[in-house]
Amino acid sequence: MSGFGIDHLPYGVFSVDGGERRVGVRFENTVVDLHAATGRPEFLAPSLNAFLALGPEVWRQTREEVAGLVETGVASSPLAEVALHLPIEVADYVDFYASEHHAANVGRIFRPDQQPLLPNWKHLPVGYHGRAGTVVVSGTDVVRPSGQRASTGSTTAGPPAPTYGPSRRLDIEAELGFVVGAPSELGSRVPYDAFAEHVFGVVGLNDWSARDIQAWEYVPLGPFLGKSFATSISHWVTPLAALDAAWCALPDQDPTPLPYLGPGRVRGLDIDVEVVLNGEVVSRPPYRTMYWSPQQMLAHLTVNGASLRTGDLFGSGTISGPEAGERGSFLELSWGGQEPFGDGRTFLEDGDEVALRYSAPGTGGGRISLGDVTGRIAPAR
Ligand code: CA
Repeated sequence: MSGFGIDHLPYGVFSVDGGERRVGVRFENTVVDLHAATGRPEFLAPSLNAFLALGPEVWRQTREEVAGLVETGVASSPLAEVALHLPIEVADYVDFYASEHHAANVGRIFRPDQQPLLPNWKHLPVGYHGRAGTVVVSGTDVVRPSGQRASTGSTTAGPPAPTYGPSRRLDIEAELGFVVGAPSELGSRVPYDAFAEHVFGVVGLNDWSARDIQAWEYVPLGPFLGKSFATSISHWVTPLAALDAAWCALPDQDPTPLPYLGPGRVRGLDIDVEVVLNGEVVSRPPYRTMYWSPQQMLAHLTVNGASLRTGDLFGSGTISGPEAGERGSFLELSWGGQEPFGDGRTFLEDGDEVALRYSAPGTGGGRISLGDVTGRIAPAR
């Protein structure tokens, strides 16, 4: 079981021997060159965007056509003989904060003297606009960022002054990313139930985070340089159609959200995540424990009339379950650095390699493996 059988068929961008980038579909451990197989010009392109812009009817027809080609034995290249690239040209990037367990843990760690959730949290999916230009593909090294770091103690009366230097609290956030294919018109809203008309598929996503930079800068306008140095996504984009069997009920929402955020019963994806540090699994966050659904995030993102563009990417926010072994960040796993986990770990060290792995029920009765997301920490420059 590779997790990349006929029921999956994710899309990516590849090249052979330094040649032109082109769109391919992964089947088992091979890549099918879609331009060679179909002759369609949108597949001879350095990103999926031209294909994504064609909309859901073309996505559906193409998936059927590719499944047919694979079944009849289309030519393909071994995965080991191709180079894989960033699959989409990222238009706008938004990151949400949709896990109640994560938000409450962070609240307790950053604001121990206050209620863990702020008053707005159960009324809207909290999010921020991130930096599209620093979304990188799995396998790209992450250079340890430098910046203003929160000082950990006060030596004199008054607030402590920050110091400058490489982050000492470099972290991951295990997330799921949603890729928008079909755009929307400026001034219009995308309703809750129009999700599949705009969203093409999902990617694995690691929102690298420098906690000391973040802690100092985030009030009052939210994350900035503590996040914008790098966000990694998987090589492969899993189409929503491959996740038809993965939809499940999310926990009940109380209070009931405003009507534009959909009916009371919300649905999410039954995706299991593994956080792997230097080859050892350190956490298993379950996506089915998220509070806000993907449909609600998209409805909220556009409720003010903001338009969608092909290639927009929105992240779920860190996926953390209720149990200690289900936390999707080192900040939570080490409880703010106070409770080392594993072999005495708190935050990331130079040379560490993190892999995020994802699996979900497939339509064929087994499980599919979404594209994993890896990254190694390079020393500060
Ligand atoms: Ca995040």
